[in-house]
Amino acid sequence: EIQERDSLIIANDFARQYYEDQLHQTEIGKSVGLGYFRSRGFRKETLKTFGLGYAPSSTDGLYQAALKAGYKEEQLEKLGLIRNGRDFFRDRVMFTIHNLGGKPIAFAGRILRKDAKAPKYINSPETEIYHKSDVLYGMFQARQAIRKLDNVYLVEGYTDVISLYQSGIRNVVATSGTSLTPGQAKLVKRFTENVTLLYDGDKAGVKAALRGVDVLLAADLNVRVVVLPDGQDPDGYMQEVGTTVFEKYLEETRQDFLFFKADILLEEAGQDVAARSAAIRDIGSTLALVSDPLKRAGYLQQFSSKLGLEEGLLVQLVNKAIADRR
Ligand code: ATP
Ligand code: MN
Ligand code: MN
Ligand code: MN
Repeated sequence: EIQERDSLIIANDFARQYYEDQLHQTEIGKSVGLGYFRSRGFRKETLKTFGLGYAPSSTDGLYQAALKAGYKEEQLEKLGLIRNGRDFFRDRVMFTIHNLGGKPIAFAGRILRKDAKAPKYINSPETEIYHKSDVLYGMFQARQAIRKLDNVYLVEGYTDVISLYQSGIRNVVATSGTSLTPGQAKLVKRFTENVTLLYDGDKAGVKAALRGVDVLLAADLNVRVVVLPDGQDPDGYMQEVGTTVFEKYLEETRQDFLFFKADILLEEAGQDVAARSAAIRDIGSTLALVSDPLKRAGYLQQFSSKLGLEEGLLVQLVNKAIADRR
């Protein structure tokens, strides 16, 4: 069993090297792949740190090279590198997904141009070495900074991680577009108890952050949220304003999960009493996830003074939510 996992990682490492060689050593890779990464502002050193590469448009370049090097077809297929006798990743820039030891466990390939039909990103399948729901992209590169700063920024995308890291914010990992899972929250907790959600500044990003808050609180983490300017994602905003302004923005707009959620839900509810009650109940069910009684009491106090509602009423509401959950 251990041998099978090791050999899958070795085969993936062959692919990683292949994609990197294609990027740095072929004419097409240099013009198309490096050209693409350069246009996004990624420096040479950054490409190395994150194992970025290029998959050429050839039908079976990796396939043939891997067979020649002695890798088995069955294994290449299992890893999702080969499908129906062809390379799975073609004409895409490649992102290596590492485990905590820095070994390649999966890949993502990004399309180079806008194409309405083809998906922007395609990914390796689940395997013995890649359980997507337990992985956070960039954790290998970020883990020391997360420990040292005792805080992690959770972003949506690969390029958000890379861009922030390159700009000096190194305690960043990505959920890679899926909703945050309990397994990912558990992974975070091995490095820090303090999480700042930094999702895209759009409706989807805010929705994902609202869901993420509950998952993180259920894992006993401290949760704060930054909402980016309209339509921006962390990469885009960083490229636009630079590190100093970006960090200042984080400092100034970072909110506790409670105020983030309360502001959004109460604004949506407006002055309608029924809608407002439902919103308060919803926030109460989130507060019920805070297991530390002292912290919970502190949040309840803040919440009641924000609402101008009697604290005892909210305490009752939250205690009922806790009882209902049991
Ligand atoms: P880029 O800056 O390269 O356009 P992004 O990270 O900003 O990428 P988003 O559309 O914001 O892209 O998506 C966030 C993340 O969701 C991506 O980084 C990727 O992990 C995942 N994702 C996006 N589109 C797809 C897709 N079609 N299939 C699978 N995963 C996807
Ligand atoms: Mn988005
Ligand atoms: Mn982006
Ligand atoms: Mn984005």
